[in-house]
Amino acid sequence: MSSALASLRSLLYRPWLLATLAATASATLLLLASLGVAMHQLQESESAQMNAKGERFLERLEQIFGQLRQGVDLLQAQPLRGCDAEMVSTLQQVTYNNRFLFEAAYVDSSQSCSNRGGEQALNQLPPPDIQGPTYSYWLNTTTEPDDNRAALVLGRGNFRVSTSRGHLTDVVDLPPEGSLLVILDKGTRAVPVLGPVQEWPPASGWPPDNDDALQVFPSRLIYRMPTKSPDYQLVLITPRASLPLKMNGMLWLLFPGSLLLAWCIGWLVLQLVRQSRSMSSELQGAIRRGELQVLYQPIFELNSRRCVGAEALVRWRRPDGTLTAPDLFIPLAENTGQIRQITDFVLQRVLEQLGQVLRANPQLYISVNLAACDVMVPRIGLVAARLLALHHVAASQIAFEVTERGLIDVVVARDNLQALRAVGHQVLIDDFGTGYCSLAYLQTLPVDCLKIDKAFIDALGHDAASSGVAPHIIRMAHALQLRVIAEGIEYEDQALLLNSEGVNYGQGWLFAHPLNARQFIEMFTRGRRMGPRRIDDEA
Ligand code: C2E
Ligand code: CA
Ligand code: CA
Repeated sequence: MSSALASLRSLLYRPWLLATLAATASATLLLLASLGVAMHQLQESESAQMNAKGERFLERLEQIFGQLRQGVDLLQAQPLRGCDAEMVSTLQQVTYNNRFLFEAAYVDSSQSCSNRGGEQALNQLPPPDIQGPTYSYWLNTTTEPDDNRAALVLGRGNFRVSTSRGHLTDVVDLPPEGSLLVILDKGTRAVPVLGPVQEWPPASGWPPDNDDALQVFPSRLIYRMPTKSPDYQLVLITPRASLPLKMNGMLWLLFPGSLLLAWCIGWLVLQLVRQSRSMSSELQGAIRRGELQVLYQPIFELNSRRCVGAEALVRWRRPDGTLTAPDLFIPLAENTGQIRQITDFVLQRVLEQLGQVLRANPQLYISVNLAACDVMVPRIGLVAARLLALHHVAASQIAFEVTERGLIDVVVARDNLQALRAVGHQVLIDDFGTGYCSLAYLQTLPVDCLKIDKAFIDALGHDAASSGVAPHIIRMAHALQLRVIAEGIEYEDQALLLNSEGVNYGQGWLFAHPLNARQFIEMFTRGRRMGPRRIDDEA
């Protein structure tokens, strides 16, 4: 299991592999996103084209209807009735003056005549499709593919005028397979005026809830043209593929742009991995050259203000004297596995530097931080046992701090922590409250003590919302018979409040900053409380 993890880690730690993975993943994401944008834009342009086409249609149809109305009104208004030569000439005159009028006819019960002489078609019409108060409408009165046949007929009194299919198709450039329909009978019937018959209603859920003129369906676009008449509505239907779609020029840039961006991300990842690798090799050198040092932050009994122990905190002092904070290199060392060497180093240093004072003060203890990988294998117990034996120090004088995050696999961790406790070490949960430890979970863990995270101590007395958390944790710890250490105590008020809540131990700048071994021993042996003058971290 751990060897599989190690090989996975080493695989992921190859800069080129990581960079390629990052570039491929980002290229895929960016290309998918570009494709999404492209599709969206195509749909937008498709809709825009259809909207424009629909409006153009409407305009032209209005023009045609206008001329038909004008023609039939004119005929109705003139005094002639019957089918004499003068009437035929009047009918011819009307069609001559109106470009869209193909045929004009006079029809009564006994006779009929038209501008087209013997070829007239308007004398035997079925009942009109639409019967308005003034006009009657016949739509697509023939299905024959003859351009000279009527497509729209308008009647008033004894007169009929028509426009031909040829006229209509001239004016209206219908896309292939598109249809112009007139919708009648309150939207239930569709008569195709141009183009193939379409099933009606055109889609489930028709009519739509919204009033948009353009309705987009997966396979077709439907444009509803508003008309002035409540009796009918015009609808234009086109299959979606028949609309010529043009890729916006910008979109062509998106693809190479995405690839370029993905390449940049890959390059950036490569640089970052190389940098962290160089940091990790620097760290390796630092461990070898002994640039790491250990400081000790005293832990006090809050009642007596007596120092009872200390937490070992590692520092990286570079040859030029600058200090690198553990927050910067510990997470990296956890990733590379170098943390094991660091933990061993800290343990070794603690016993080398403080062995004597620990032997002389059997109640004094030092707390050592463990990383997740230290908790997952029994190794650390063996290392500690060897060093303790070497320096004749009791196991009870070395405590181990594990964070909630460090307990990834609880079952394995529990066994290892139990083994540490079995030989006499104390186990503390560090940064308590920042992870996912619930009460139920905590009950099953073999621990002695909780360290309340500084964030909750900071909130004491300041933030009404979170100040309640620390007392809650304290009560919980007491219920489980766990000791409590409050960390990050900076003010006397906090120390007093925590003490009154039943917290026995505390650590923080109020008492002392982390000290080097010499300062710590001095402070401890003098038994002096760190008062107003505190010895600083970097002494
Ligand atoms: P931590 O274990 O929670 O250590 C406590 C941190 O709080 C230390 O920072 C300490 O200097 C700081 N601190 C203590 N009292 C106060 C206070 O009153 N106010 C403020 N603002 N800070 C206070 P440090 O030494 O920088 O350590 C940071 C973290 O690095 C540690 O957090 C621990 O997670 C990690 N770390 C340090 N040394 C080791 C180590 O030897 N091994 C491992 N695995 N992790 C370590
Ligand atoms: Ca700690
Ligand atoms: Ca902590």
